[in-house]
Amino acid sequence: MKYGRVFNFSAGPAMMPEPVLEEIRDEMMNYRGSGMCVMEMSHRSKVYQQIIDDAEKDLRELMNIPDNYKVLFIQGGATLQFSMIPMNLMKNGKAVYIETGAWSKKAIAEAKKVGEVIVAASSKDKNYTYIPDCSDLDIPEDTDYVYICENETIHGVTWNKLPNTKGHILVSDQSSMFLSRPCNVSDYGLIYAGVQKNVGPAGMVVVIIREDLIRDDLTNLPIYLQYKTHADNGSMYNTPNCWAIYCCGKVFKYLKSLGGLKAMAKINEDKAKVFYDFLDQSKMFKGTVVAKDRSLMNIPFVTESAELDAEVVAATKAAGYDNLKGHKSVGGLRASIYNAMPKEGVVALVDFLKKFEAEHK
Ligand SMILES: *Cc1c(COP(=O)(O)O)cnc(C)c1O
Repeated sequence: MKYGRVFNFSAGPAMMPEPVLEEIRDEMMNYRGSGMCVMEMSHRSKVYQQIIDDAEKDLRELMNIPDNYKVLFIQGGATLQFSMIPMNLMKNGKAVYIETGAWSKKAIAEAKKVGEVIVAASSKDKNYTYIPDCSDLDIPEDTDYVYICENETIHGVTWNKLPNTKGHILVSDQSSMFLSRPCNVSDYGLIYAGVQKNVGPAGMVVVIIREDLIRDDLTNLPIYLQYKTHADNGSMYNTPNCWAIYCCGKVFKYLKSLGGLKAMAKINEDKAKVFYDFLDQSKMFKGTVVAKDRSLMNIPFVTESAELDAEVVAATKAAGYDNLKGHKSVGGLRASIYNAMPKEGVVALVDFLKKFEAEHK
């Protein structure tokens, strides 16, 4: 790795593509003759307007977003969406949630403050190690939407087949798998993603929302919490996270240059296979998720004891493979291998773990 950088397996904030960081470095002191860094620029300037317009245009191209969807850049991370979604979308005060791990649980807790939440399926019985069958859910007619977390960052499960919503709107938290594979936007009413997992710096969320779901009768809601505010003002009702939008825009362009989301899916499948193949033959390390629902982005795994897990974390860190400790709520180990993790990082880590296993027989 250049610049003394390490392979960073953090779940987020996470690695950014090196060519993007280099471009940002080159533009740091004087962005394209403006005489300023993007951090110093008015969001009302022409030069900044071009940056945000390009970012939206490139994202639309990457995901093939239909014209009747708005793209919004909002602050407050993904967490604020746990509240904004029920506040804006619960017309009848009722929504169906699928509980598949830590992040859907948090979303459920927030939605309960706003209206009635029906947990129509859950994988709690097996500690969130699989995606429940959602082909025939019991969904009341007046349900406002069906909510999923499409990739559970902590538990490492991912949806490979969307739930049958029986005609209701689907809402998806894509934070930890955003832009990792093709996505048919029209299957959803609303998609959102905190960008610090798979795209850019923390502190921003991308919301893709079908226009007819944006309401203008919510005048009692704080202005920042209404999607309409952001949609009507091109994500610039107030000062947006200019820096994050700039960095994300660069990543969108970079992903396009690699061949778009089909190419990313191929790269990510290939990369994750290296790790899962290793886990499947190892006697020391075991994956915790059922094979069909395994995430391509976050791979939780364990040894036989917490002591050995800790030993692995220390040894990998010393060797330049950082942040392999599992989330504090589940323990064990976790390798997050988002879009920006090069395959060579995964191959090198697997080689290291193989050696570790051989030396600790
Ligand atoms: C990280 C994460 C969040 C929370 O993101 P913040 O930007 O920290 O609020 C929500 N959902 C998922 C799936 C995540 O991985």
